[in-house]
Amino acid sequence: MAQFLRLNQFLMISDNLKKVKSRIDSVQSSQHVELIAVSKTRSINEIQEAVDAGQIHFGENYLQESIDKIEHFEGNGLVWHFIGPIQSNKTTSIANHFDWVHSVDRIKIAKRLSDQRNPSLGLLNILIQVNVDKEETKSGVYIEEIDEIVSELSTLPNLSLRGFMTIPKPENSESSFEEMKRLISKYPELDSLSMGMSSDLEVAIENGANLVRVGTDIFGPRSYN
Ligand SMILES: *Cc1c(COP(=O)(O)O)cnc(C)c1O
Repeated sequence: MAQFLRLNQFLMISDNLKKVKSRIDSVQSSQHVELIAVSKTRSINEIQEAVDAGQIHFGENYLQESIDKIEHFEGNGLVWHFIGPIQSNKTTSIANHFDWVHSVDRIKIAKRLSDQRNPSLGLLNILIQVNVDKEETKSGVYIEEIDEIVSELSTLPNLSLRGFMTIPKPENSESSFEEMKRLISKYPELDSLSMGMSSDLEVAIENGANLVRVGTDIFGPRSYN
């Protein structure tokens, strides 16, 4: 019975991945789009099933649970993205376990990541989280503050500033994605836009997203957030 369940679940994750990829492929876009499987709260077995189906990029929100997973898969060539809120006393571990950090919204945090990154790992890829709808409950930089943070981050030696990440209000995500597209077009040196989740990845890609973050539609509903 246990074996049956496991096989069934494997079929589910690999089928879900196929479906999400064909949704991505169905959008007309000039950019290459990378699918990030958001594996917060998921077990090593579930991640293994996604890996067996060819998935390479994974996103994690909670440092505590992510370290075991990253260490378990070391040497497998996976790419790990930190997408959750960053506490300043946790930056050393983020700086040295992840390949990308999407949720940088303060210069102080960026400086710590740069200071603490082991240079032998190469540059840490950074996205600035943008609070595009100015929601008080969300973290992220306001559009008016972007110029300043971009120029300060560009001077930090162990970071490579790549672009922006946003989580818009679901009600008006299309206009927020359009706003992000206009924003990044002002910075020709930046090449990455992380936006779009399970429910709105098509509209995000139409507006230039090249990193989409999908959890539920790959792994099923989460039992906690
Ligand atoms: C959880 C999470 C996702 C994935 O959301 P789903 O609705 O499960 O696809 C994407 N981005 C961030 C920042 C998240 O925290």
